[in-house]
Amino acid sequence: MQLGGQRGSDNVEDRRGIGVGGGLGIGGVVIAIIAAFLGLDPTQVLDTVNQVAPPQESRRDVPKGAPADEMGQFVSKVLGSTEDVWTEVFRANGQQYRPPTLVLYTQQVRSACGMGQAAMGPFYCPGDTKLYIDLSFYDDLRKRFRAPGDFAQAYVVAHEVGHHVQNQLGIMAKLDSLRGRVSKSEYNSASVRIELQADCFAGVWAHHAAGKSLLEAGDVEEGLNAASAIGDDRLQKQAQGYVVPESFTHGSSAQRVRWFKRGMQSGRMNDCDTLNTRDL
Ligand SMILES: [Zn+2]
Repeated sequence: MQLGGQRGSDNVEDRRGIGVGGGLGIGGVVIAIIAAFLGLDPTQVLDTVNQVAPPQESRRDVPKGAPADEMGQFVSKVLGSTEDVWTEVFRANGQQYRPPTLVLYTQQVRSACGMGQAAMGPFYCPGDTKLYIDLSFYDDLRKRFRAPGDFAQAYVVAHEVGHHVQNQLGIMAKLDSLRGRVSKSEYNSASVRIELQADCFAGVWAHHAAGKSLLEAGDVEEGLNAASAIGDDRLQKQAQGYVVPESFTHGSSAQRVRWFKRGMQSGRMNDCDTLNTRDL
């Protein structure tokens, strides 16, 4: 990417190296890790873990604003770019974008959705409108998932921001209202539609970022490769050697690539209607 001229966002909380106070019981850690490998809905995982370890106050003040280190600068610039793009897209629809906060942490973090664990990967919490990333996930992305490149890293941020956009549009609330009212497999298929829309929204961001000359040769391929690498079928095959489509919560590799691509080609939110399409 070409982020030299991009402003960094100040909507960053740097909680790296800051303890959470108390700490997780071993049961919580085990539940979170197993659930992440099985591809369960992370918000459900968080609910479960929260019951194991009730929230306590953090003991130190959290530095706010764009961090000075290289990776901190990178993610704050990507976040700044999502703010610029979504502000414009919302304005064009007569709406006002309210940007989320990005929380950087190490190993575990408290959120309004419960305890977050690095092993779960990056997540968005609608309850506090914050996205949470342990930057060690980028090592996993590069090595375990074989998706290297700075644009692959930016796509991860853009996907979580996509959930924030959904939250602001009231779409996350719809998914939440299904919980407990529908069967597990019905809930999973709704979750897949939500996740594919977040991929499509990440593509919408990429479309406009390209228009601002933030992309360089090879970036699009990096993004598509990453979308493919974190498909449920690919992850399940790696983890357990076989694929169970009814348990998908994020969509197959082919679907994730397709919707990311669609958003990237059109740059329009309206082309990301994964919730109603018959052709997922
Ligand atoms: Zn997601």
